[in-house]
Amino acid sequence: MKLIAGIDIGNATTETAVAKIHDERIEFISSGIVETTGIKGTIENIHGIFSSLNQALKKGKLDIKDLDLVRINEAAPVIGDVAMETITETIITESTMIGHNPSTPGGVGLGVGYTINIKNIKKLKEKKPLIVIIPKDVDFLEASSNIDKAIRSGLDIQGAIVQNDDGVLINNRISRVIPIVDEVSLIEKVHEGVKTAIEVAPVGGVVEILSNPFGIATEFSLDSQETKMIVPIARALIGNRSAVVIKTPKGDVKERKIPSGKINVLGKRRKMNIEVDEGASEIMNVLKECIPIEDIKGEPGTNAGGMLEKVRQVMANLTNNHPNSIKIQDLLAVDTFVPQKVKGGLAGEFSMENAVGIAAMVKSDKLQMQMIANELEKDIGVEVEVGGIEADMAIRGALTTPGSDTPLAILDMGAGSTDASLISRDGEIKSMHLAGAGNMVTMLINTELGLEDKDLAEDIKKYSLAKVESLFHIRHEDGSVEFFENQLDPKVFARVVILKEGNMIPIPINESLEKIKMVRKTSKERVFVTNAIRALKMVSTTGNIRDIDYVALLGGSALDFEIPQLVTNSLAQYGIVSGRANIRGIEGPRNAVATGLVLSYEEGKENE
Ligand code: ADP
Ligand code: MG
Repeated sequence: MKLIAGIDIGNATTETAVAKIHDERIEFISSGIVETTGIKGTIENIHGIFSSLNQALKKGKLDIKDLDLVRINEAAPVIGDVAMETITETIITESTMIGHNPSTPGGVGLGVGYTINIKNIKKLKEKKPLIVIIPKDVDFLEASSNIDKAIRSGLDIQGAIVQNDDGVLINNRISRVIPIVDEVSLIEKVHEGVKTAIEVAPVGGVVEILSNPFGIATEFSLDSQETKMIVPIARALIGNRSAVVIKTPKGDVKERKIPSGKINVLGKRRKMNIEVDEGASEIMNVLKECIPIEDIKGEPGTNAGGMLEKVRQVMANLTNNHPNSIKIQDLLAVDTFVPQKVKGGLAGEFSMENAVGIAAMVKSDKLQMQMIANELEKDIGVEVEVGGIEADMAIRGALTTPGSDTPLAILDMGAGSTDASLISRDGEIKSMHLAGAGNMVTMLINTELGLEDKDLAEDIKKYSLAKVESLFHIRHEDGSVEFFENQLDPKVFARVVILKEGNMIPIPINESLEKIKMVRKTSKERVFVTNAIRALKMVSTTGNIRDIDYVALLGGSALDFEIPQLVTNSLAQYGIVSGRANIRGIEGPRNAVATGLVLSYEEGKENE
């Protein structure tokens, strides 16, 4: 009998399987799982390896001294980085204002008129619809009394733009309901005598006229050419409760493409260039053309270049290699949006700009893993060897799922990479490792919702949402209602919350539940459905994924409450049956690589 441990060092977790090898059979004893320490493939991993191993041994009432052999994975390529690159920007020239969304506007409705400073209103001779401008030094009492006087004297006051946060205060003190937008910080940039439209939606509503290009065109009598130009304005206003649009004589809003530089894909047979601002699908097409890929480079001096070269530099530093010896083997580009401050805006307006998100993967280095093995061997005094490559091991582990048989394909959906492997009826294995997995989904959620909080984004990814509708009930994202005996924490009232392990975590942004859910789901699709199809195509013997019958889903991301369904549905279109694996009948989709490392030891012996 021999006691051996298989240890899988992943980007996110380090998993262990401990087994007794008897003459005739393998008896799995226990398993361990801890967070990976340091970046995968570096010496910092030893810490995590050690605790994962100890956890498993403890569960099996065993000691390190009892071990005969430890086998670690030949790490699949290390993920360098996920990064974003904005490819459009909205610039406002002159003083056209767009997309302002103060937290508490006053009044309600649409008002269109010509701007006038409240201080000059008494001097006014001609009668025309007016929008009053109320600068900081005019307090709400003075402002509301002057507006009221003007209304009583017969002036047509259509709305107000206020520098202070006084919208509601002014609204409560005047005799007519007009839309009032406040917190306009750069109010001095709003000139007098220009035509302006203000819209404030009722509580819970969103602006409807100013978020529609034809609505703006109607109010300002624009021709078709001008209407085209204001499309970015309308787009930026979608979903706001209030908005102001000012037409200045020369004022102009442009959407500009930012030149982001080229990516050079160096394939074995073909070399091609692609501009990053062409978007994700074009980048992925070029990548496909160049398979098999030797290296991917970014144009020096550009943002794209910086992004890819940073990955190379970081990996070089971590592994004490020269940057030139680090090869980028794959990348996944995904179209995304980033909320960005509008250049030239008057009140810190944001606009959703197009961006490309990229996950890059560096070619694995067996020597690196050998170094970790040697170091570990010294530390624990047990023989340590580098087992086979990850996806090969994963499929051996997957075959311990009850009811599975060859031929079989697997998708191992981890944190950094999506790995695929296919085993034929006679045991031949073909594997592939691709950039982009759970970490990228988290990044997309984080940036598209403007959270700037990775942990919160990770929770949004993993758990379902609800809206707290009263202090005694919530509405789940599927529409069902749940009532509570005891009053809920007032902090969560009227908020969209994450339902995490019995707790409600409020999401501190002003987005609807539907929007958050949509960002969550499409992020998962853009990463995992894309990669599932890409990876399976590469491992299928014919290049046609329809030739694959069964796919077992593995890895931490296969635990997700919707990723397996999204992948299963998309594969069903190719006639493929897929589902979550259950390693050794007890581990669910986890521990496949660690289990495979143990099993492949046994196979190695048979071949000797
Ligand atoms: P690796 O092999 O790269 O270490 P894992 O197989 O451990 O990766 O998977 C880690 C990924 O799985 C992370 O992106 C993490 O967010 C995700 N994950 C872990 N648990 C869950 C869960 N319960 N639901 C959804 N995603 C999960
Ligand atoms: Mg893994």
